Formats: sequence, C-alpha cells, structure tokens
Amino acid sequence: MLRFSVKWVSAVVLVFLVGAAFIFCEYLIYYPAILKCAWPKLSHARGGEGSDGRPTDSTVHAMVLSDTHLLGAVGGHWFDKLRREWQMERAFQTALWLLRPEIVFILGDIFDEGKWSSQKNWEDDVRRFHRMFRHTTDTELVVLVGNHDIGFHYEMDWFKLQRFEKVFNASSTRIVTKKGVNFLLVNSVALHGDGCPICQSVEKELIKLSRELNCSLQTGSEKTESCDGAHPYPPTAPVMLQHYPLYRESDAGCRGEDAALPEERHLLFREKYDVLSKDASQRLLQWFKPRLILSGHTHSGCEVLHDNKYPEISVPSFSWRNRNNPSFILASVSPRSYTLSKCFLPQESTVISVYSSAGAFLLLLFLAHCLVMKGLCSLCLLGKHKSM
Ligand SMILES: [Zn+2]
Repeated sequence: MLRFSVKWVSAVVLVFLVGAAFIFCEYLIYYPAILKCAWPKLSHARGGEGSDGRPTDSTVHAMVLSDTHLLGAVGGHWFDKLRREWQMERAFQTALWLLRPEIVFILGDIFDEGKWSSQKNWEDDVRRFHRMFRHTTDTELVVLVGNHDIGFHYEMDWFKLQRFEKVFNASSTRIVTKKGVNFLLVNSVALHGDGCPICQSVEKELIKLSRELNCSLQTGSEKTESCDGAHPYPPTAPVMLQHYPLYRESDAGCRGEDAALPEERHLLFREKYDVLSKDASQRLLQWFKPRLILSGHTHSGCEVLHDNKYPEISVPSFSWRNRNNPSFILASVSPRSYTLSKCFLPQESTVISVYSSAGAFLLLLFLAHCLVMKGLCSLCLLGKHKSM
C-alpha cells in the first residue's frame, strides 16, 4: 500500500513539474517581459498627451519589428521552424493583448525563402504568417519588403515583387497616413540606381511622393504651379521605414545590449548588400528630409545620426533564431514629435535554464524514488523473513 502511494505521489509531482515548466516557458514567460514595457510618453507641451496623461487624438502608438524570417520548405530543420514560429506567435499575440498598438510595422524579411520558394511553398509560408500575426481590426498591420522576400537586387523580378504586394494588398513604396503622421514606406531592395525596370518604377514613385510631400509642406501662397493636382498629405516631415539601413561604414559606433557582437562591429558594410549605397542614401535624405528613419536587415540594434540631423534606428530581428534577446520598438508619434522605447523579449537562455533545471530536478526525483522503493522492498523482505 505504501509502495503504491509513493508511486502515485512521484507520478503527480512529475506531471506537475513538467506541466509547470512547459506552461511557464511556452506561455507565461512572455507576460512578465512585455508587462515591463510601456508606451513612451510625449510631453503635453509637445502635443503628445492630454492633461490626464493619456495620449491625445494626435498620438499614434506604433509597434515596429523586423526580420521575422519564417523558415521555408528548403532551409532549416522542421523543429527549428516549429519552435521559432511558436515563439514569435506567442510574443506577438501577448504584445498585442497587453499593449494594443494602433499600427504594427514589420520592416521586411518576413519570409526566409520568398526569394526562391515555389508557389505552393509560398502559399504555405503566407498562411502561417497570417496565423501567427493575426490581429483585430483595431490594429493595422503594415508589412515592408526585404531582400529575403523577393531576392537581392540581382534575384528580384516583377513576379516575386507582385506576388508579395498581392499578399499584403499594397504597393511596396507608399505613404501610410495616420492621425496626421506620414509614414513613408520604401522598397529599399530596388534602390541600386542602375536603371533596372523595378528600380526605375520605384524611383519614379519616390520622386512623386517627395514632390507631393514638399507641396504639402508649402502654405497656400507659397504653392507653385507644379503642386497642382498633388495629393494633399499632412504638412509634416515623414517617418521613413525601410528594410536596408542607410549607408554607414560599419556598426563600430553601435552600443547597447543588442548591438552587434564586439568582434563583428568593425567589419565594413558592403554598399547595396548590407546597407544602401551612399548615393541612394543621400537621395532619400534630400528628397524626404525624414525626421526619423527605422530600418532592419542587420538583425542588431544601432542608433545612427546622418548628416548630424537625421536619426536612424536599426531594429533588431524579432526571431530567436537570429538573436538570444529579440526585441521590438514602441513608438509614440504625433505630427510634431515622437519618442521611442525598446521592449526586450525573454532570452532564449532563460528558457533553456528553466527546462534544464526542471530536467535536473526530475532526475533527482527519479533517483530519490528508486532509493525509497529499494528501501521499501528491503522492509517487505524483512517482514517476510520474520513471518517465516
Ligand atoms: Zn535583409
């Protein structure tokens, strides 16, 4: 009878421990991490918040993440795919529930193999993306194009670009306006400046948008004839979002816990591959004079100030496949101002530690169980000998 109850107690402890470790690592762990994050506050004087501390009607709460790299059918192990997608889905859904952003931007490289996936594999990747990043109508999801979605410049073609644009029902280069804030989305894969048909089309669109934004900034009497028929945008400099960062020599000046590793920071970036070319970067700055630039692609965090007046934030990868400590940006943006904060997700090493500790405890429990059972057996045998 005693043997029987020891077995049951051991089984209950085992199930409880395994269940607790699993529920904590796979569901609950995202809550304490994201609960520590909050929307940064714009000062009342700068038009950000009302006297009660709540955002005014003119403040947009935007969540910005990048480089989700959903694994395709060719590269990557099935378990890696399952694990990373589950982590990103739980992190995104928890963040949506706790922070309720009005708009979410994903800065490209949504898919790892969009550049070469077959139509069937592409549709499967898209279906999983929509499941992972599902959202209510209160939140707008805006997706930018990256080199892994349509290929590097030498790999991209109209078919891949239009396939991407069709899925997300929008052009890869456009302006999204929300509460008087202009968010400029740039297809940075097509800025090689070599006159390729897609490059020409994207540059033509950028020139048009630049003219329209400049016309919007002009007051009534200043407006030139060339502004006739231009789409009226709110009169404010745009927040520019793109996959490639603007040109910078390296990550040598990057600091912070999610900057590139010290041994990698001094590696020189290649123009048109790691970062945009100097020429394309200067053209974008001259055309749009953005008040803030947000970009992805490097998988690491960095803050850069271009020409002493144009700040750029490199947004790290959202996938644990690329980082131990993924994160996303919380941006409070009004027509006149903005402020940013970074929200770090749980570290992969924490999850591994919890599972390892649970495993070690189970092993100890098993050994203790064996010892107890052995002791009970000895008592039984002793009892039998006495009765004889
Ligand atoms: Zn990329």
